[in-house]
Amino acid sequence: PAQVQILNGRFDKLSADQTVEELMRAIRAGERGILSTVNVAILMMMRSNPRLQRFVDSSRWIVADGQPLVWASHLRQQPLPERVAGIDLIDQLCARAVQEGVGVYFLGAESSTVREAVNVLQDRHRGLDVRGYADGYFGPEQAEARARAVAESGAELLFVAMGVPRQEYFIEEQWDNLGARVVIGVGGSFDVIAG
Ligand code: UDP
Repeated sequence: PAQVQILNGRFDKLSADQTVEELMRAIRAGERGILSTVNVAILMMMRSNPRLQRFVDSSRWIVADGQPLVWASHLRQQPLPERVAGIDLIDQLCARAVQEGVGVYFLGAESSTVREAVNVLQDRHRGLDVRGYADGYFGPEQAEARARAVAESGAELLFVAMGVPRQEYFIEEQWDNLGARVVIGVGGSFDVIAG
C-alpha cells in the first residue's frame, strides 16, 4: 500500500477499517506479517534504538498511532486517513475474528490482568475463539516455550502486550516459533481493557 515518511517512520495510508480488512485478508490468504503501531514516543525511541528502528522498518504493516502524526502527514501533503490505535484494533479485529472464526491469542501483562482483559473481550465479542492467553513476565529461557505454546494453540492472530521495545524483541526472536499469521505489539493495552 501507499506510504508516507514522517521523521524516521514510514506509515501506511490505511484507515483503521482498511487496516483490519488487510489483516483479515492476509490471514485468509495464509500470509504472515507483523503490524507495528507507532506513536511519536516510539519514533523518538527508535532514533536511539537501532534494533527497534530496524524492527519497525521491516514490519509488514506500520500504522500511525497518534493525531500528531496524522497532522504531520497533512503538512507533507501526504494525508494519512486517520489515527490507527492498537487498542482500537484489538476490538475491531476481535469483532471480525468472531465473524470469520479466526482463533486469537493474548500474551502479555500480569496474569490476572490478561485474564481479565480476555474476559472483557469475550463479553464484548460473543463467540470469540480465544485459543489461549499468558502473562508477559518470563525470562529469556522461557521465551521459546511461550512462543511454541502460541503455535500449538493454532491461533492465527496474536496480540503481544509487554511494552515497547520488550514485545518487539520477543516477536523478532520468536517469529519462527510463533506460528500465528498476524502478530501485533499492543504495548499496555491489556491493562486498559482490563480497567
Ligand atoms: N509487561 C510485561 N512483561 C514485562 C514488563 C511489562 O508483560 O516484563 C507489561 C505490563 O504488565 C504492561 C505492559 O507490558 O501491561 C506495558 O508495561 P510498561 O507500562 O512497563 O511499559 P510501557 O507502557 O512504558 O511501554
